[in-house]
Amino acid sequence: MESCVFCDIAARKVPARILLEDDDLVAFEDVRPQAPLHALVIPKRHLAHANELQPADAALMGKLLLAAQVVAREKGAADSGWRLVMNTLDDAGQTVFHLHLHVLGGRELGWPPG
Ligand code: AMP
Ligand code: ZN
Repeated sequence: MESCVFCDIAARKVPARILLEDDDLVAFEDVRPQAPLHALVIPKRHLAHANELQPADAALMGKLLLAAQVVAREKGAADSGWRLVMNTLDDAGQTVFHLHLHVLGGRELGWPPG
């Protein structure tokens, strides 16, 4: 596999502001935040995008969702509101091909997205 910056963050080979971690996932601050809260939650196992998910990954994805909830709560956005985004391939503007949830909040977020 070609090098993957998010695999390298999970392996602590590339620095990141880690918010939480367990055996299966890591959450860290986005390096170019689009909102006061902008974190990314990734599985440690490399999956390029949501099209690769299998039924066996259902529990893993549930853990990512719960980790996002913890991040939103710890960052003070649980009550004001927060958003999850998962960009998949070109039309969605995916730029890093290691599956990730964006956790966004801390301001009013526009809808529909661009
Ligand atoms: P996407 O466009 O959905 O693929 O989002 C990729 C996100 O990863 C962008 O918001 C980037 O700012 C973020 N990003 C890229 N490289 C890093 C990095 N080394 N550390 C933290 N966030 C990163
Ligand atoms: Zn990766």
